[in-house]
Amino acid sequence: MNAKDIRKDFPILDQQVNGNDLIYFDTSATSQTPSPVIDAMTAYYEAYNSNVHRGVHTLGTKATDGYEQARMKVRSFINAKRFEEVVFTRGTTAAINLVARSFGDMVIEPGDEIVVTEMEHHANIVPWQELAKRTQAELKFIPMEADGTLTMENVEATIGEKTKIVAITHVSNVLGTINDIKAIAEVAHRNDAYIAVDGAQAVPHMSVDVQDLDVDFYAFSGHKMLGPTGIGVLYGRSELLDDMEPIEYGGDMIDFVDLRTSTWTDLPVKFEAGTPMIAEAIGLAAAIDYIEDIGPEAILEYEQELVNYALERMRSVEGIEIYGPESRAGLITFNLSDVHPHDLATALDSEGVAVRAGHHCAQPLMKWLGVSSTARASFYIYNTTEEIDSFIESLKRTKEFFSYEF
Ligand code: PMP
Repeated sequence: MNAKDIRKDFPILDQQVNGNDLIYFDTSATSQTPSPVIDAMTAYYEAYNSNVHRGVHTLGTKATDGYEQARMKVRSFINAKRFEEVVFTRGTTAAINLVARSFGDMVIEPGDEIVVTEMEHHANIVPWQELAKRTQAELKFIPMEADGTLTMENVEATIGEKTKIVAITHVSNVLGTINDIKAIAEVAHRNDAYIAVDGAQAVPHMSVDVQDLDVDFYAFSGHKMLGPTGIGVLYGRSELLDDMEPIEYGGDMIDFVDLRTSTWTDLPVKFEAGTPMIAEAIGLAAAIDYIEDIGPEAILEYEQELVNYALERMRSVEGIEIYGPESRAGLITFNLSDVHPHDLATALDSEGVAVRAGHHCAQPLMKWLGVSSTARASFYIYNTTEEIDSFIESLKRTKEFFSYEF
């Protein structure tokens, strides 16, 4: 993997921000888009923009082929058994809401337990809270260790015979914790529960095989994995998806429509009412090609190098507090004493460094950490150790500035 070569594919990175070379350390929020992805979407709009699954004309057929081939690509990328198990959604949030609404309402009964963790993104906690309210079920939380990891003892102790659904993130967007989904899925299934996984921060950065993990549902977003915004994926076991009701109704998802009643078409289109995200699916397919060309293993390895280098260097900054475990995905959430994270992010931005500041859509986790907000630097294939060095210098200057006594 050669990050310097890779950067040539990302025109956006070649710019100055506030008079400095841009250092983009906010991939956990949204990744940048390489030229082949932009080109694939441009080619669609320039040559075969058309609606799918409807017309018989040539452009419509090409668009349908592009859209359905994208589905095939996703299928093989995550090793789903069948293409019917790949539902295109607006993103991870929409995918989780679909599971909580449709599957949740189908299986949860009063008194059942839904198990989550305190490290969840709001997208993987609020839909379950609402499901619990609708069905008089109870939310339970797997306790975390002081470093933000889960132990299998606590997983075993929390998942029990009342558990119906375990909803858990694969990788925390704040702590970088990588959860052992395969082991947790085994505990869930042993207790006759289902497992739904938020894979938004995992799929872009490591190899994910839904059959090997043995999960029931798995959700992720295109825009965090070099693809466009506005598209994501819900993987679901076909036997579960088959039994589920759609949560949106309209064109494309029907089989027959009568004046007063209708029937639904087959998977996966049953869950894709209306005109889908055609250009976005084609862009996502190009993003998968890009990731596969480099190789998910090489990506993970490179990010591990970056994050370990950054951790070591950041620890040399006076007054820094770093959250999360030693062994982590490619992101670092932190605070600098005497500097509010928003001031910190603003000061870094004035030097061209883009980091995220705030609660990262994880307010319960902020409470658990005992802070109201943090800063976060997150890395991807286009980042370099030289950028980390510049970032450290910017951090030190910021600290000095805010510590200055007038
Ligand atoms: N889960 C996690 C762990 C995330 O990091 C994010 C995005 N920040 C989401 C869910 C939501 O993804 P989206 O906004 O693309 O629906």
